[in-house]
Amino acid sequence: MKALDELTFDNRFARLGDAFSTHVLPEPLDEPRLVVASKAAMALLDLDPAVAETPVFAELFGGHKLWAEAEPRAMVYSGHQFGGYTPQLGDGRGLLLGEVYNEAGEHWDLHLKGAGMTPYSRMGDGRAVLRSSIREFLASEALHALGIPTSRALCVIGSSTPVWREKQERGAMVLRLAHSHIRFGHFEYFYYTKKPEQQAELAEHVLNLHYPECREQPEPYLAMFREIVERNAEMIAKWQAYGFCHGVMNTDNMSILGITFDFGPFAFLDDFDAHFICNHSDHEGRYSFSNQVPIGQWNLSALAQALTPFISVDALKEVLGLYLPLYQAHYLDLMRRRLGLTTAEEDDQTLVEGLLKLMQNSGVDYTLFFRRLGDESATLAVARLRDDFVDMAGFDAWAERYKARVARDGDYTQEQRRERMHAVNPLYILRNYLAQNAIAAAEAGDYSEIRRLHEVLSKPFEEQAGMEQYAQRPPDWGKHLEISCSS
Ligand code: AMP
Ligand code: MG
Repeated sequence: MKALDELTFDNRFARLGDAFSTHVLPEPLDEPRLVVASKAAMALLDLDPAVAETPVFAELFGGHKLWAEAEPRAMVYSGHQFGGYTPQLGDGRGLLLGEVYNEAGEHWDLHLKGAGMTPYSRMGDGRAVLRSSIREFLASEALHALGIPTSRALCVIGSSTPVWREKQERGAMVLRLAHSHIRFGHFEYFYYTKKPEQQAELAEHVLNLHYPECREQPEPYLAMFREIVERNAEMIAKWQAYGFCHGVMNTDNMSILGITFDFGPFAFLDDFDAHFICNHSDHEGRYSFSNQVPIGQWNLSALAQALTPFISVDALKEVLGLYLPLYQAHYLDLMRRRLGLTTAEEDDQTLVEGLLKLMQNSGVDYTLFFRRLGDESATLAVARLRDDFVDMAGFDAWAERYKARVARDGDYTQEQRRERMHAVNPLYILRNYLAQNAIAAAEAGDYSEIRRLHEVLSKPFEEQAGMEQYAQRPPDWGKHLEISCSS
């Protein structure tokens, strides 16, 4: 276990030079204080969890101090936002402090979000508020615990620095960890600014550091693109299977590693609703829950366009064609497991679709339905769950199909079935209203609720004594909260 001053840096992205990023120092927050830290994320850096409570921790991640070997840089990128191309974006309020490598030999980007103005701040103030920093922290760590690929969050540092949004709030910083912060938008930037040399350098960088196995392939860049397509298909399948709505799937928020990235007005579904839009400035529903699937492909096409200097259009198209079938295979596999099935049958797709349609019409709680389905035998569970459906006859018909399917699936005890289903069906998810409660307490200076919620969500599949209140449907006030997009 390491102390804070024992981290080892190897700043590979910074070495690419000034065409890729700009040296900027963090702007310190006033009276920095620890709001919450993730021990699991600290372990990725081999950090002793006790150091989170030391004053120097809040000073480092509140922008007051810097390691001698850190080289803070604001990265430049561009991207398609809501379908339109924005020629220059970049880290407007985040800094890549450096890359740390751990004892296992993994590199982790240390990215400080809310660190002040940079050359890419445009009209913004370079800051992040406590509310949005807490949301990013909780979401990263909760998604990870669910087995969904994501950037991680080390800590949130709060402060007394005033930050103006719809009202005056307080500034905060979140320290994000990822193996890379390179986005689709990085490739788009060098493609649209017609800088082929830098673009090739970027492609080599990503290939060598993040997809080295693709080097062995006859066409390494094509193999890398294929890998990116596969990872995105799998990530989005997991979002859909667990009811996660990202909210701002612009290409500048899509990671080259296929991890969930840049959390804004995201939400987990409470009631199942395929048309759910979590971002209330998304008037057309471009990023609605069910649209995430085709948008994943749209975003990959935007990346493909930026890769045309390296790969033939025909080859890119062929690989893009793999996205939907791969997505469907992953999604169906997950949904089968959520239903407790261990084998595959032709009709499973319609079994899943039939259930979702019934859930949609009755506003059934998406998470609790699956959890309860595994609590008891299929026969007892559907008999109990029936009451949640308005169209009871429709549900009965589905339940008959389901019971027959379970009977054909195999012969196992209810104990085995429960264990298997509970291992994939969480009891606790990051419901908006739970985050809201934790935020309200934190804004009043009480960090106990966010720490408890983080703890509960770090073991989402495990029933935890005394935590029943985190496994309930939302109260009426918490059902359709409007989450501010300003962050
Ligand atoms: P986002 O919607 O958070 O992914 O941000 C889109 C772009 O706006 C990125 O280039 C951000 O760095 C930038 N940005 C967002 N908020 C701010 C802010 N408060 N100050 C400066 N830049 C910001
Ligand atoms: Mg972003």
